[in-house]
Amino acid sequence: MKNQFVCPKCSSYLNIGEDVILAAEAEDGRKGLIMLHADLGNYSVKHNTDFEIPEGMRFEFHCPVCHMGLACDVNPNLSKIHMTDPENQTYEVLFSKIAGEKSTYCLVGETVNMYGQDSGNYVDFINLSAVK
Ligand SMILES: [Zn+2]
Repeated sequence: MKNQFVCPKCSSYLNIGEDVILAAEAEDGRKGLIMLHADLGNYSVKHNTDFEIPEGMRFEFHCPVCHMGLACDVNPNLSKIHMTDPENQTYEVLFSKIAGEKSTYCLVGETVNMYGQDSGNYVDFINLSAVK
């Protein structure tokens, strides 16, 4: 069994196969579904060709089931979903809302694993959150 991704609010599964499906709203008001890769650190994104994802644009992510905003109180540029591994350990996965910014953090207790070449961008915020 692979890692499962779930909504922090309604606990619905958000992944199907290798894809994590989220509802996205661009800062220019356009809305659509996107699929992020379930492997942390893999930044391939699937989206409708008419729902463009311009580099540098900020997106707000919502649970496609309950529509709760997947906000993270650590930093307004980060989203948060939950991940459960095959041993049933639950992690908080934080990732950037900015298209093209490769910053992902996987937190459990005070342990943080970081992914992506831009993961240094929010490390100060993540460390603050980990010691809370
Ligand atoms: Zn939900």
